Amino acid sequence: MVEHMKPVIFDKLAAVASVGIFTKEETLNIFPEYDDWSYKSSLAGYGGARSVCAEYNVLCTDVDPYGHRLNVLTHEFAHTVHYYASTWNIYHEVRTKNRDLSEAGR
Ligand SMILES: [Zn+2]
Repeated sequence: MVEHMKPVIFDKLAAVASVGIFTKEETLNIFPEYDDWSYKSSLAGYGGARSVCAEYNVLCTDVDPYGHRLNVLTHEFAHTVHYYASTWNIYHEVRTKNRDLSEAGR
C-alpha cells in the first residue's frame, strides 16, 4: 500500500502513524488512545493515528466473523492514510468519491 505512495504522504504517515494488533482475549481498548472507548470494544479494528486490528482477522482464523473476505487492517490503515497523511486535495477527492458512491447506493 505504501510502496507507490508519494513521498509527501509517506513521510507524514511515517511521522504520525502506527499499527497495533490485539489478541482474541483483548479488545482495541488495550491501546491507550482507545482505552475509554468501551462502547466500541466489539470492533475488529479502527483507523485512528494507530490502525488497530484483531489478531483473528489478520491471521484469518476460523473465528474471524469476516470469513476471510475482508482484511480489516488494510481497511483501517486506509482510513489512517486518508485522515492523517493525505494532502488536502486527495483527502477531499476521496471524500467526494465516497459520498458519490454512497448516494449511488454502492
Ligand atoms: Zn471504514
